[in-house]
Amino acid sequence: MTENNTTDVTMEVLVSLCRRRGFVFQSSEIYGGINGFFDFGPLGVEMRNNIKQAWWRDMVHRRDDIVGIDASIIMHPKVWEASGHVAGFTDPMVDCKESKMRYRADHLFFSPVVIEGETIGYISVLETPGMEEEAAEKADALKRKLARQGKLQPLELREYREATPDQYALIPSPATGKPGSLTPPREFNMMFQTHVGAVRDDSAVAYLRPETAQGIFVNFKNVVDSGRVKVPFGIAQVGKAFRNEITPRNFIFRSREFEAMEIEYFIPPDDDAWPKFHSEWIETRLKWFEDIGIPKDLLGKDVHEKGKLAHYAKACTDITFNFPHGMQELEGIAARGEFDLRQHQESSGKSMEYFDEARRERYIPHVIEPALGVDRTFLAVLCAAYTEDIVDGDKRTVLRFHPRIAPVKAAIFPLVKNKPPLVDKAHEIHSKLQRRWNVFYDESGAIGRRYRRQDEIGTPFCITIDFDTIEKDGTVTLRDRDSTKQERMNEDDLLLFLEEKIDP
Ligand code: ATP
Repeated sequence: MTENNTTDVTMEVLVSLCRRRGFVFQSSEIYGGINGFFDFGPLGVEMRNNIKQAWWRDMVHRRDDIVGIDASIIMHPKVWEASGHVAGFTDPMVDCKESKMRYRADHLFFSPVVIEGETIGYISVLETPGMEEEAAEKADALKRKLARQGKLQPLELREYREATPDQYALIPSPATGKPGSLTPPREFNMMFQTHVGAVRDDSAVAYLRPETAQGIFVNFKNVVDSGRVKVPFGIAQVGKAFRNEITPRNFIFRSREFEAMEIEYFIPPDDDAWPKFHSEWIETRLKWFEDIGIPKDLLGKDVHEKGKLAHYAKACTDITFNFPHGMQELEGIAARGEFDLRQHQESSGKSMEYFDEARRERYIPHVIEPALGVDRTFLAVLCAAYTEDIVDGDKRTVLRFHPRIAPVKAAIFPLVKNKPPLVDKAHEIHSKLQRRWNVFYDESGAIGRRYRRQDEIGTPFCITIDFDTIEKDGTVTLRDRDSTKQERMNEDDLLLFLEEKIDP
């Protein structure tokens, strides 16, 4: 029996579980780590692969209108000039000269502290779900420090980018709490640079791709000419991307090396075409998150205001997830018009036009771009799965992963380890299942302890071989992680059952 489910989890608890059980490690840990980079351990790599495979299967294999590519990470530098990344892939950065801390100016908020019309100073806070309370406490503390009487006026938190040059000198640094050390914001290009070939001059500069999308655009003609795709159709790609984020934060939510899963879905250029495709994609992607086990009530939509869109974009909606640090973007779904293909046509001199046979017409298709990160999906899946409950009076930690995503699909136990017929049968079933899935054999310790170890890494099914298996009817016990219920089934049914659950 299970009771008392709790799902609220802090990032500290997740980070510690991930390290302890081999999901995620800090990169280069023995050298003190390197900020913004992570390594995935034995369970983490399985889970990442499962996420990527589920996406690829559902978005590419199980559709007739999407094909995949795998472009190189380093591309011709002109790609990034044409796409606008060299000039504009920037975030506003602000430095604290005293602490040497660096912040994103759009994540740093400030407010004057005003008593009866008089500004007595300023407070600053970093963007967090609790920043308003933190700001109010800081304002109170400032009032006490200056021994001022009177009623504080309500604070008006604004982004640091909106401060005037006079205010820069008065706003305290979040690191030191003192004013005078923050620089004005300046634009910082987030692309990592490298040099290709033996010569290290400007002509050899190249970039590690900050997204996979441009690899798709520059191959648009290749795919059209070599395949049998017809608009509307999509090209999908999964691959590493690199962004020199100013403040990598919140574990794997924002890192400097991550993996992207992106689709460019090419549609006709008519004015009434994109709204329909855009909303279809939002629904398709929301449903996919539910299909991989993320409950609907943890997901949201953030529709970007028209005024804040890039000049070429027609619309952008983020699918958000309730992360421990707040409701944040999980996936962006943008209607980008013809911008990217036209830019590459103009910059390369090669036509990006498509001939639509049905319409007997030539045009540059428009595009809908659903783009998400493997790592953010990993974190969302982990947050959604984490549960503490009570089983038979004992507290247990359980990761309720969908069987598609679970790193270990099933664990196989002989009831006891000193009875060779049980052990042999367990090994036999283990090797049969191992041919198809990542499964685990365990004979050490009491059966209850073995269950708990699997619960904590999210293994959905435990299969026990006992005396009835050998002496009676050949059936095994299958125990369900979430309900902890057990049922007996024969080997053929077991295989069918697992297949249906793991590869729906
Ligand atoms: P943010 O505003 O959070 O920086 P973004 O709007 O720049 O994100 P996009 O360029 O739309 O992000 O990237 C698409 C997706 O790639 C994001 O929804 C996210 O899932 C993932 N992603 C982007 N940057 C990072 C990163 N630094 N670390 C991990 N995943 C990322």
